[in-house]
Amino acid sequence: MNNSFFNNSFISVEQLTKENVALVFTEADKMKQIVLEKDGTDILKGKVIACLFYEPSSRTFSSFVSATQRVGAGTIQLLGMQASSVAKGETLEDTIRTFGCYADAIVMRHPETGAALQAAKVSYVPIINAGDGKGEHPTQALLDAYTIRSHFPDFSQITFCAVGDMKNGRTVHSNTKLLAMLGVKKFIFVSPKVLQMPPEIVASIKQQSGTVTEVESLEDVIGTADILYATRVQKERFEDIEEYERLKHKYIITPEVMKLAKKTMILMHPLPRVGEITAEVDTDPRSVYMKEQMQNGMYIRMALLKLILKK
Ligand code: ASP
Repeated sequence: MNNSFFNNSFISVEQLTKENVALVFTEADKMKQIVLEKDGTDILKGKVIACLFYEPSSRTFSSFVSATQRVGAGTIQLLGMQASSVAKGETLEDTIRTFGCYADAIVMRHPETGAALQAAKVSYVPIINAGDGKGEHPTQALLDAYTIRSHFPDFSQITFCAVGDMKNGRTVHSNTKLLAMLGVKKFIFVSPKVLQMPPEIVASIKQQSGTVTEVESLEDVIGTADILYATRVQKERFEDIEEYERLKHKYIITPEVMKLAKKTMILMHPLPRVGEITAEVDTDPRSVYMKEQMQNGMYIRMALLKLILKK
């Protein structure tokens, strides 16, 4: 299969097609097997990946570092840029050119929407967007779709319900666009009015012949969902902290709420959770956020690194 990722930046799910997603999933399946059988491979031996995180991260950063090492490459790791020349006022462009002299690819997270694209325009090496402000988080979208596929192989039959901060959550921006492209037809977005999904994303889903239902009450719709994707209200994107405080715990998934859901539903969350799902729900067999989703993140990132750096 033609590898369209090779030597290219990966900035948005809009670069994805059914074919190249299938390629990532096939590679991720192989990476999973490799990790389970022998921990890793040296397929990218000699390569170096820079992980430049201008914003906090636990899972995306660590899974990229782990993925890098499990495919045999080395890493430059900056979690927070305070210790780099960014603290002296260096521009994004200069920083990106600099790391491109030492690394073969740059994984970056930045608080500004569009920063990854801005970096890709000047970079000597491929940029992988690990989250740009309220914009996108395309590797999260791939790992989410990969997780969903293992429970529901036919995307056209599922109802995807996301709850929480649709306005500021980059994970739901990326994963709903990707799922619509992969054939999901029914979307339900549950949020307070002020945190609704950006209209351009709703429009793009409809353009791909999906239906979108936007409601405020989770209880009214949870019974129809095959996937419930819970999200955190994105505190760091609020100008008015009182508004955040007012909205942050509007939706809390408890064992009682889970009783209203289908037996076959899966509960996902990109994490971190800050109160949206109570700890008792973790042992519900429908919960996949504490292990499956995270492990899949590493396999997907191993696959992407391989595809971007090897023909
Ligand atoms: N970890 C995810 C992200 O970086 C979700 C979140 O922070 O709420 O977007």
